[in-house]
Amino acid sequence: MYRAPVGANVKWRFSPIYKLGKGCANAKDALLGKGDSWRKDTESRFYKLYNSTLYAFEKEGAFSEGSVDKIMECLKENVDRIAELWNDRRSSYLLIFSPISEDGHFMYPLDVKAYLSYFRSRLKEQGAGGGCSSQNGSVGEKLCALCRSQTSETVNLDKIFAFATFDKENFLPGIKASDKSKGKMFPICQDCYKALSGGKACIDEKYSDSKSIYGVNIYVVPELIMGNANMGHAVQFNEDFLSKGLSNEGHLSNRIMKMDDSVVLHFVFWEKNQAQERLLLMVEDVPPSRLKHIEETWGISANATGRSDLSNDGSANSRLYRIIGLMWSKVMELAGKSDNERNYAKDWMLGIEGKILSGECINVDEVKTFFVSRLQGLCADHEWVQNKSKYFARDVYCIIDFLYRLNGED
Ligand SMILES: [Zn+2]
Repeated sequence: MYRAPVGANVKWRFSPIYKLGKGCANAKDALLGKGDSWRKDTESRFYKLYNSTLYAFEKEGAFSEGSVDKIMECLKENVDRIAELWNDRRSSYLLIFSPISEDGHFMYPLDVKAYLSYFRSRLKEQGAGGGCSSQNGSVGEKLCALCRSQTSETVNLDKIFAFATFDKENFLPGIKASDKSKGKMFPICQDCYKALSGGKACIDEKYSDSKSIYGVNIYVVPELIMGNANMGHAVQFNEDFLSKGLSNEGHLSNRIMKMDDSVVLHFVFWEKNQAQERLLLMVEDVPPSRLKHIEETWGISANATGRSDLSNDGSANSRLYRIIGLMWSKVMELAGKSDNERNYAKDWMLGIEGKILSGECINVDEVKTFFVSRLQGLCADHEWVQNKSKYFARDVYCIIDFLYRLNGED
């Protein structure tokens, strides 16, 4: 009776099972946390156990009032024993909370009625892992948000895209994933669900690039905007891309530059964050001719700044992607060390790459300021000055020249 939690931040689990994970050298400290009280140390295992798993059982009535405090007291009393058992780094450990039967046997959660009904009601809240049932009588027939057909069985987008979850108000603005809100938040019928999840699987398989930018996934989804009749030899490349996608290369290759504008491309940049997917950037309707223009501009800048090696075609990956990759790596090199600084730089850089793809004007002064303001710190690093500064300066010079030319200010 175990199901993975529905999100990293939810404060309940399907069953009274807590994953301690691999054995720990300072087990006692890890359990109890710093200082005297695990209740204040949000990093301590007891704090996490209490808040992520146990307390919800009491709140929902599966445990009687005050039970969790009693359990925590017992755990604290026995902390030395638990720490002693939780010590092998090669093994992974679970804590299972379950009663002892009248004849003195440990009862597995499945044999405990209160757990079973708790599990079932949680499952029901989640729409039984798929269809959102209307058994609770709150709504009868619902309208599918896509095809407008009437149906009693609907599903929400979070079943297809992990960035469309109910705790993210900008995507599915439901505070609670209850049946009531699910009926209102972009409900889709079973047929549309099938079509959408089929489409998602197809994008994952064919149009997904996880190589070009470290840690970031890029979907490149083509859309046919005109019929393909009498379009000449470029059509073959369009058809190739539509049918094969990126599957052979796993990145955006030069083949894409041979397509014509009867196809537009949609770019989606996203990253994985534990169980969730974080949407970073979406750029719609990019015609291949714009990509060609970006590449050509890059070629001119690379030659003008003495970096023709950056524009030659030695690599199978397209120049466009090498531009995106180079700008990305130069910015991340300067982004600082803390997560906050790096996330800020990442979002900012993606914003600029989004503008490049969508053909908007770029604030080059801002880019210059970013590089210049951070150079000072780097110059204090002798090793960097000796080994990297020369290449760095040339790359940055090329990038700035390229951005000016894209803006039409060469
Ligand atoms: Zn539908």
